[in-house]
Amino acid sequence: MPLAPDIEKLVKTLALKNAIEHQGKAQFDAIISKVAGSRPDMRASIKAVIPEIKTAVQAINAMPLDAQKAMLEEIAPGELEAKKQATAEQQHFPPLEGAVMGQVVTRFPPEPNGYPHIGHAKAAIIDEEYARMYNGKLILRFDDTNPLKEKLEYYDAIREGLEWLGVKQDMTKNTSDDMALLHDYGKKLVQTGGAYVCTCRQETVRDLRGKGLPCECRRDPATSLDRLARMFDGSYGQNEAIIRFKGDMADQNTAMRDPALFRILEGDHPKLGSRIRVWPTYDFAAPVEDSLDGVTHAMRTKEYELRNALYFAVLDRLGLRKPAMIEFSRLEFEGVPVSKRKIRPLIDDGIIKEWDDPRLPTLSAFRRRGFVPEAIRRFVLSLGITLAETKPPFESLEAFNRKVIDPISMRLFFVRDPVELVVEGADERQVTLKNHPTDASLGTRSVRAGGRFYIAGDDAGNMKEGDEVRLIELYNIKVQRVERGDGRVKSVHASMGGAEIRQSMQKIQWIAKDDIVDFKVMIPKELYIGDKYNTNSLEIALGCAESFVSTLKPDARVQFVRFGFCRIDGSNTAILTHR
Ligand code: ATP
Ligand code: MG
Repeated sequence: MPLAPDIEKLVKTLALKNAIEHQGKAQFDAIISKVAGSRPDMRASIKAVIPEIKTAVQAINAMPLDAQKAMLEEIAPGELEAKKQATAEQQHFPPLEGAVMGQVVTRFPPEPNGYPHIGHAKAAIIDEEYARMYNGKLILRFDDTNPLKEKLEYYDAIREGLEWLGVKQDMTKNTSDDMALLHDYGKKLVQTGGAYVCTCRQETVRDLRGKGLPCECRRDPATSLDRLARMFDGSYGQNEAIIRFKGDMADQNTAMRDPALFRILEGDHPKLGSRIRVWPTYDFAAPVEDSLDGVTHAMRTKEYELRNALYFAVLDRLGLRKPAMIEFSRLEFEGVPVSKRKIRPLIDDGIIKEWDDPRLPTLSAFRRRGFVPEAIRRFVLSLGITLAETKPPFESLEAFNRKVIDPISMRLFFVRDPVELVVEGADERQVTLKNHPTDASLGTRSVRAGGRFYIAGDDAGNMKEGDEVRLIELYNIKVQRVERGDGRVKSVHASMGGAEIRQSMQKIQWIAKDDIVDFKVMIPKELYIGDKYNTNSLEIALGCAESFVSTLKPDARVQFVRFGFCRIDGSNTAILTHR
């Protein structure tokens, strides 16, 4: 069966783009999943044309790269330009000091204590971009040294999130893989006097740290050795002893006032169970792991700034190699806290039920809302590496997404708070509506329009007698009567209007009365107002849609005309991606 012309064009465009990205060779599997992704309506029938798609991809792979570029420019003008722009965006990433081609190693070190969010995407993409820029390596390292907070579910969620984003690590490991090694380094530090075991109560530690004064435990190395053995043989319980770095209790930088390097935590670790009790803190594990993993350029957000001195002091004292440290600003949006610390309580308290709730900034929520990974990457690249603490407008992320989904989203009709419209004297006609204004490959649909419709409550509310209004892609009507009751419009009666489509005319979407399905759209709003949870953060728009909409599978992207881009979420439900 030969490919339909629109599918052939889609396959060629996707194959050319993919080939140009991969040294002239498109990957067949990637093309198939992209075809299925952009044409949800084809999923069922795609199997039948796999041989034809294969032949088309092979033909493209047989072409030299230059010819592929020329052909792409011919069949999909502008695509190459978009590629170039992405490269320009990468110039927001200044060269790394001391970087040697082929030898740069970066790492993304999430703690598996929650679902990954768009801030993690920023960090991971920066780590990956630099690794690629220098033909180096990206390590994904689960920073899992707190058995009280970490769960297997979160390791998986992080891995899936990165995979969806298209971040490809060259290696994956866990900090907990190295517990024996970390213990050895910790013990060595105490044995050589670089650290000591402190058994003061937590409040005492905090209090003396604030005053810049040492405690008794700091003075006596012999006691420390004895206590060290007892920390490891199980004599101390949780919070009864910590290993502290011997810094300077009077240092201006409070991070240097003998911070904790190890503490006792009694919990069930997702990888190690309960057999480890002495756990390193972030301040110890991060530098030691970075150094041992061969990381050349360690990147982290600016809030760790004060801890940089400690990071290097730990490595100095252990005689370990020091990576370069690069900082960038945290990503936050107005009204949307991008931090597990802020998201977690909402989940724990049952205010929000799922990690992919569309109001959250988690990657699974962005995905469910209809954001595409490519847009997130372009957005992150456009931010670049800066220390500026400005919150980028959420609209900027939306703009990147709109650019990607606008050409592939079907235009369909949804009317919110429907009101009946009766057009007197209308003939009954079968109309063919385009699914996309410019891309014919998205097809058409056929609707039978008599004289009865539903229109959106807002549109009906704005109508008055004598108005001439256009029903999009159908005909003009002249409003004769607007029936109101209980403070709302109950129905609108109209006659047929003229033939001219004037610029100034209101143009509205409509649904034929015999062609409706009940439909609902979830509209995510700001999660927080100031630092308070917004109880109206999820708005539900009730209405009806053309019956065609109920044939779409979850995951399909649509643009409801004059409403917004949406992703179909389940039966007769969609989520607003953005306007
Ligand atoms: P959270 O506040 O969400 O718990 P975290 O820093 O504790 O953040 P980790 O899982 O430890 O979360 O973070 C892994 C990496 O992701 C770190 O390098 C961190 O700097 C980075 N990161 C976390 N949140 C953001 C953010 N909002 N913007 C940019 N990078 C972030
Ligand atoms: Mg953390």
